[in-house]
Amino acid sequence: MTEKACRNCNFITDKSTCPACSGTTLSGDWAGYVVVLKPYLFSLPLELKQELQQKQVSEKLREIFNQHKYTLSEQAEIQPTNSKEWKILDGKKEYAIEEGNEQLNFYKQYLDPNDSEIAKRLNITQPGKYALRVR
Ligand SMILES: [Zn+2]
Repeated sequence: MTEKACRNCNFITDKSTCPACSGTTLSGDWAGYVVVLKPYLFSLPLELKQELQQKQVSEKLREIFNQHKYTLSEQAEIQPTNSKEWKILDGKKEYAIEEGNEQLNFYKQYLDPNDSEIAKRLNITQPGKYALRVR
């Protein structure tokens, strides 16, 4: 079993077709990787969408995080990904928020090594293991 990296999206797999983008050009010549997971954390009422749109880390939002045993520091920032998705960046921690039908769903993104710049550069849209360099 040899792991290969997709030349198109960098996803690492032992399959002959990339499960992430269906690409068929895979390379065994890759180095370094990030692991991106997105486990579900909790949901919030849709009313809080307005605060996300205004990029406000409000006391109410902090309180809800605390209730779920997560904390948001003073440096926490909200960034919109698109009209139905947002990110909360808090130091090295990164949370993803997606608007569902009746609620906002929160996820935690893990990046390893802990560098969200890499994930941004690779434009990762789904969980998995991604090579940093592919030849
Ligand atoms: Zn791919």
